[in-house]
Amino acid sequence: MADTLTNPMHVEVISPDGPIYSDDGVTLVAARAEDGEFAIMKNHLPLAAALDMCVVRVEKPGKEQRIAVFGGFLETKDSKVNIIAPLAELAETIDVARAQAAKKRAEDRLHSHSKEIDMDRAKLALMRALTRLHATKSI
Ligand code: ATP
Repeated sequence: MADTLTNPMHVEVISPDGPIYSDDGVTLVAARAEDGEFAIMKNHLPLAAALDMCVVRVEKPGKEQRIAVFGGFLETKDSKVNIIAPLAELAETIDVARAQAAKKRAEDRLHSHSKEIDMDRAKLALMRALTRLHATKSI
């Protein structure tokens, strides 16, 4: 643990909109890949993983940053963690009311049983809304 605290990691999250997050002094990164959740600490073996839509948690001593990540890719090597995602949002930039409205809209569509509704699209919209609400600790 002492080594982890004195030799922390550098983390970058990049989306097509540009850099979303960049910081040093990170002690833990938690994310979710297809086969489940995982965490990375200093001296982790090199790893590359396709990410699920998930909330990435970046921990520094006394501070946690939550980032909604909508797929993408994580790689780690030499105490650097890079995440490249098609869309990523810091929790504090998420509009909770909008995400709640999107959740309700998607749920109504999924419950409608209408043939005109694209269920896969509604399911994905629901997952995006739930990820945003989870990132902001609103559910
Ligand atoms: P909505 O139906 O509310 O537009 P959505 O899931 O369909 O939600 P996306 O297509 O994932 O929205 O995103 C479109 C753009 O709007 C992106 O730039 C995304 O970052 C932004 N966005 C979507 N929902 C929110 C939110 N709740 N807070 C802040 N930005 C959001």
